[in-house]
Amino acid sequence: MTDTMTPEQRHRCMSHIHSKGTKPELKVRRWLWSHGYRYRLNVRSVPGKPDIVLRTYRTAIFVNGCFWHGHGVRMSECRNALRGECIENSACCKIPNTNREFWITKIRRNQERDQENYRVLQENGWHIIVVWECQLKPDRIEHTMHDVELLLNDNLLSVYRQHTPVPYSTEKESVLPMAAES
Ligand SMILES: [Zn+2]
Repeated sequence: MTDTMTPEQRHRCMSHIHSKGTKPELKVRRWLWSHGYRYRLNVRSVPGKPDIVLRTYRTAIFVNGCFWHGHGVRMSECRNALRGECIENSACCKIPNTNREFWITKIRRNQERDQENYRVLQENGWHIIVVWECQLKPDRIEHTMHDVELLLNDNLLSVYRQHTPVPYSTEKESVLPMAAES
């Protein structure tokens, strides 16, 4: 049988298998919705197809699973990462010892794709907020979302600043010789 899934579909499929309880993305959506924020999901026209898009805030929110996106694992900087010499297992992303190279390659590729998506978005004037799965545990979610809210407010301010016309200046007029009328 041939595999007809795109890598992305397969990824999503596997994320479903591995996720326990409420999907992290859903937790963020619920919080935002109940606090009056309105958003769109997986907007295709926005580069990287972010999980949550708040157009008014010109903000894309990515809710990343800690394992798949390698939270706290800094391997892309290390040339020896593939040989397993410089891998740091973080508290929330433990790379299995079995098939280690496979997982390292996979997670590193995801990290690189993430960085590329963020870069393209930022170049197009979007603000990025990344929320990690581990930051949405019951004892952390309020604190995390409070931070998200602060970032959103900042982003909204900068959107307004960009669109506010430059105030009318009277400077030039005052330079004109008033005596011209006489
Ligand atoms: Zn994490």
